[in-house]
Amino acid sequence: MSTAKPKARLYVTADLRAGEPAELTAGQIHYLVHVMRIAPGDMLALFNGRDGEWLAQAESVSRKRCTLRAIEQTRAQEPAGPADDVWLAFAPVKKTRTDFIVEKATELGAARLLPVFTEHTASSRVNIERLQAIAVEAAEQSQRLDVPDIAPAHSLNELCASWPAARILFVLDETGTGEPPVAPLAAALRDAGNPAPCGFLVGPEGGFSAAELDELRKLPFVNAVTLGPRILRAETAALAALACYACHQALAGARSGA
Ligand code: SAH
Repeated sequence: MSTAKPKARLYVTADLRAGEPAELTAGQIHYLVHVMRIAPGDMLALFNGRDGEWLAQAESVSRKRCTLRAIEQTRAQEPAGPADDVWLAFAPVKKTRTDFIVEKATELGAARLLPVFTEHTASSRVNIERLQAIAVEAAEQSQRLDVPDIAPAHSLNELCASWPAARILFVLDETGTGEPPVAPLAAALRDAGNPAPCGFLVGPEGGFSAAELDELRKLPFVNAVTLGPRILRAETAALAALACYACHQALAGARSGA
């Protein structure tokens, strides 16, 4: 295996195969040529969410073009697996705080991000393309081999109606009436080889309405959890919940020797 250190790590959509050229977007070419100042012979790392990670070499570089050729696979694609099967549904908050949620959830391994409009959600629009770009950047930076899928925004009712019955939904309940997530997460992730799929739902800055919490608690797949006696900002709650999940997952893996 080559020991050359990649100068950049990029997510591409095309297939990656030895000896094949790798297609880049105009934005990626601009980044490589004008920001990274890539020269012919430089090595890069590429991934596409399907073919693992590849070392690629820059062949010809000009102001508007940069041709890369995939050389060898350096990491195999982990089985798209139940191991990282956690989703995050969140009510969009202010722009930079929503960006933060997407970036941190990507770093922490969320497989799917689902923007959801609740009664007290202040923003009425969400720019999915922007969120996708943030997720790609966070995946590139965090050495992920895939990029989380960003679902179109839905109302809370639509989210609940389409939520898979077998996926536990941990509703982050700021009213303090939920249980700590320690025991239910430990139960969901007990079998490291076959963890239960789950997800978290974080409310907006204005919190969930009492009616929303009542309706949510009636759903068979919902488990209301508390993150302690303090009121956290939505982005803190999202990050804390996913960190809690990652901790339990690591513990379950350590127990099973995975
Ligand atoms: N305005 C509300 C707080 C909303 S905090 C109030 O003053 O009560 C935004 C979201 O973060 C909440 O809807 C909840 O999903 C989550 N959250 C905040 N603190 C939490 C806690 N201690 N436990 C569980 N979830 C929490």
